[in-house]
Amino acid sequence: GKITIAIDGYSSTGKSTIAKRLAKSLHYIYVDTGAMYRAVTLYALDHDLINDKGEINAPKLVEALPDIALKFVPNSETGRADMHMNGKNVEEEIRSMRVSGKVSKVSAIKEVREKLVKMQQQMGKDKGIVMDGRDIGTVVFPDAELKLFMTASPETRAARRYKELLEKGEEVSYAEVLKNVQERDLIDSTRSISPLKKAKDAIEFDNSDMGLEEQFERVHDFAQR
Ligand code: C5P
Repeated sequence: GKITIAIDGYSSTGKSTIAKRLAKSLHYIYVDTGAMYRAVTLYALDHDLINDKGEINAPKLVEALPDIALKFVPNSETGRADMHMNGKNVEEEIRSMRVSGKVSKVSAIKEVREKLVKMQQQMGKDKGIVMDGRDIGTVVFPDAELKLFMTASPETRAARRYKELLEKGEEVSYAEVLKNVQERDLIDSTRSISPLKKAKDAIEFDNSDMGLEEQFERVHDFAQR
């Protein structure tokens, strides 16, 4: 029967690439939970709830949470789902450095996590799902049948992100991307609510030196055991 697959790990470890392929080949639903935290962050930025110093007006953001409608909408061109926030396709915008620079702080807010975790549990209630994030195996689906924890060196990860951002035409330096990746790792793994950590029963994967094919084959094997 169908199972739940939880994929967690640090930023840009190639979680989503693996998760997407896995979902496609197993005919499962794929959910990128980072997109949800990113969309809430975009809302906060667009509504001036984050000041120049990067401080978040948490009470106002928490109050606004019921007004933030998030939806994954299938895109027939890409064959993937785009994040829509309040009816607008924000898929491109949420991947920008503007959002990446603030998302970890927004994700540390308890009420934000409560709202998104509930939505995620609802999406996965029928199994047959591959979900990637930071707390999927530990908090969202602690009973997932398959849990993967992905790691790779910060340099490998930053190089990956940098390449993606350049391809999208964003003006950014490798040093900035590396700094952002390291900052997010630190905030994500030291926050008091649901910090990023490997679930006890997760299989750890260091994919620094592994090609995409090899990674995929190994994970696919695990899923079919
Ligand atoms: O996966 P991605 O890098 O897009 O996630 C962006 C940020 O969203 C992470 O750095 C983290 O702060 C937050 N996040 C989270 N919990 C998740 C997924 C993402 O806190 N399940």
